[in-house]
Amino acid sequence: MVVMKDILAAARAIHGVADATPLVPSLVPSTVFGRNGGALWLKLETCQPMGAFKLRGALNAISHLPEGVPGVTCCSTGNHGRAVAYAAAARGLRSVICMSELVPKAKVDGIRALGAEVHIYGRSQDDAQIEAARLSAEEGLIDISPFDDPHVIAGQGTIALEMLAACPELDALLIPLSGGGLAAGMAVAARALSPDMRLIGVSMDRGAAMAASMRAGRPVEVEEVPSLADSLGGGIGLENRHSFRLCRDLLDEVVLVTETEIYVAMQALYHEDRMVAEGASVVGLAALMAGKVTPSPQMGTVLTGRNVDMAQFTQVITGQGVTLGDLTVKGLPYG
Ligand SMILES: *Cc1c(COP(=O)(O)O)cnc(C)c1O
Repeated sequence: MVVMKDILAAARAIHGVADATPLVPSLVPSTVFGRNGGALWLKLETCQPMGAFKLRGALNAISHLPEGVPGVTCCSTGNHGRAVAYAAAARGLRSVICMSELVPKAKVDGIRALGAEVHIYGRSQDDAQIEAARLSAEEGLIDISPFDDPHVIAGQGTIALEMLAACPELDALLIPLSGGGLAAGMAVAARALSPDMRLIGVSMDRGAAMAASMRAGRPVEVEEVPSLADSLGGGIGLENRHSFRLCRDLLDEVVLVTETEIYVAMQALYHEDRMVAEGASVVGLAALMAGKVTPSPQMGTVLTGRNVDMAQFTQVITGQGVTLGDLTVKGLPYG
């Protein structure tokens, strides 16, 4: 169980390190939809010290570890690993980060630079998780889940607290959705503070594990494929204990966006708002631009991270084609 009390405690645990990111209005609704489109507020987790919101959950989880643990481990598409490395270093703890071969090199290098050890293992998040479980069993490292851990969920929930404190009129949240730690935590806080708020999870349409699991009524596996939203890749764990139930019970709907819709939203955010953000960050904007969610006067979304692969990001914003495994997103000049 994660309740509001846990999120308030997390807010105290992360205070001064991973909180108080800006909330700013996007220029995209006025330029793309005209003035009647309503506001879209952007929570800039891109301003976190290691470039993504995951620092909130990792700091909160590590602050709850007993004295004397030998270290921590995790499996990660990059940002959770980066956050665990950062939070562990801040507490003087050893960290070993396990990732699959699909993770972009920029993210691997970023993690090594924070002083963590990196183990590359297998072709999927699920493979990398096997290595983290081994380190936990054989070396006693504490395995911190990127999304299925009550302290991580509570840490991510602090984002909704801050958004509603800054803008109490918010009427809908578009939440990037992968393993569901972010959506679960934000939904607990938002439902408590603003019961009528529309809560919409957004994933890419290829390999959306939470959406498939919610349809099936239980955690299911999906094939992981390359995506512009690489931070949204990976399963939710067949033994999922927390994030699946919370997302199923608290989200009003889950919307899926295509790679082309993500590509166009990355361009719009860059050219209109002059912001650099990962594909995973713009899925809420993409859903709105594609007409896949009903607009309302005061919507909010989270720009979850800025840790782009610079070569690929440059291709997108300059309108070049991008190859993602067996799919090519055709080049589209902006506008
Ligand atoms: C982890 C992550 C997400 C998704 O968070 P979940 O808790 O797994 O749903 C979205 N965007 C970025 C940049 C991330 O790193």
